[in-house]
Amino acid sequence: MGLIVQKFGGTSVADAERIRNVARIITDTYKAGNQVVAVLSAQGDTTDDLIEKAKEINPKGSNREMDMLLSTGEQISVALCAMAIEALGYPVISLTGWQAGMYTNTAARNARIKRIDTERIEAELNQRKIVIVTGFQGVNRNQDITTLGRGGSDTSAVALAASLGADICQIYTDVDGVYTADPRLVKGARKLDEVTYNEMLELATLGAQVLHNRSVEMARKYNVNLEVLSSFTGHPGTKVKGVVKQMEKTYISSVAKDKDIARIALIGVPNEIGTSFKVFSLLAKNHINVDIILQGIGHEEGKDICFTVAQSDLEKAAELLKENRESIRYARLETNTEVAKVSVVGAGMINNPGVAAKMFEALYDAHININMISTSEIKISVLVDEKDAAKAVQVIHDKFFSMG
Ligand code: ADP
Ligand code: ASP
Ligand code: MG
Repeated sequence: MGLIVQKFGGTSVADAERIRNVARIITDTYKAGNQVVAVLSAQGDTTDDLIEKAKEINPKGSNREMDMLLSTGEQISVALCAMAIEALGYPVISLTGWQAGMYTNTAARNARIKRIDTERIEAELNQRKIVIVTGFQGVNRNQDITTLGRGGSDTSAVALAASLGADICQIYTDVDGVYTADPRLVKGARKLDEVTYNEMLELATLGAQVLHNRSVEMARKYNVNLEVLSSFTGHPGTKVKGVVKQMEKTYISSVAKDKDIARIALIGVPNEIGTSFKVFSLLAKNHINVDIILQGIGHEEGKDICFTVAQSDLEKAAELLKENRESIRYARLETNTEVAKVSVVGAGMINNPGVAAKMFEALYDAHININMISTSEIKISVLVDEKDAAKAVQVIHDKFFSMG
């Protein structure tokens, strides 16, 4: 008996049969004596389709109207699911982000949740109703609908679990849990029983889309019991928590790939104090996140600075650098989107020397060139050509996880 938040992703609610399946999971949980709040994503590719529809009309449509449009996908899901639950004979109500009291800031298309007024949800739960809430959306202080960024329904679910003090937040998806690499792309990927918040946060940030990175950040902050599991198989999933039992045994948890990345090179900048400051403060002031940075040692003729940004920021970053060419004084600007970042993540690597060497050996054996490298206490990332990325993930995974 408890309060359980269950989130179902797009594939899990893609058609009528799957919605009935989700309704069964929810009502089984309710029947067992729990209060249930379910958070749903838009069906299948609905969000992508809506974006395409908008592009047909106006490729530069305002973010406010995009949010108005994109939020409809989730509304379809919750209404249909509530009807499926009604058909099974259980008391239920569906709510939009606004009705559920989900307040965000005004950053349209990438809004952050500021607070949740849970009164309405609690009133419905007290009447023994199952509550179905739209993921991915909220409302800002101007009463405009906002969305939380792609994949944001996970964050809606964790935020609700934290605000309601839920016993657990279950993220139902189309794979059995968090794996040692994307199980759809990597042969031999294995399911992890448990993973720490810190590792999961790195993984999600480094491209493993199985959880929205902000949802993990929030789960860590509010200590939400998180579980990732399949809506199709009924197998036990992966627990995401503060401390895990086998932490000492494995030092690498997973390999991730991120293709949404672009490299910018500033060739021949002056070898003098303040150049990097000029470049990166310009980008920071314009809210552009920079990831891996590589700066050459420099010589009399100058030095080169290379760094990566999200592909969606490339155009703006290049524009800013061109506008400021006179002050930065580079000889040439080069951009490349045909790159990908491949990373290994593991809390145990800090005490195990040789992880980087092992990773680089796997790439060397496969004749894959490394363009850039970056490390932290729990991850090592390399930038490779996009054409090599899938193979890179597989050979690195084989190196660390193969049984033989
Ligand atoms: P949902 O629609 O349920 O939110 P997503 O498509 O956002 O589902 O996330 C699930 C997908 O994440 C899986 O189908 C899988 O291909 C991908 N994925 C990437 N890396 C991993 C990983 N390490 N473990 C599990 N799944 C992963
Ligand atoms: N429907 C939204 C998306 O496709 C949110 C989500 O699925 O989490 O990005
Ligand atoms: Mg998702």
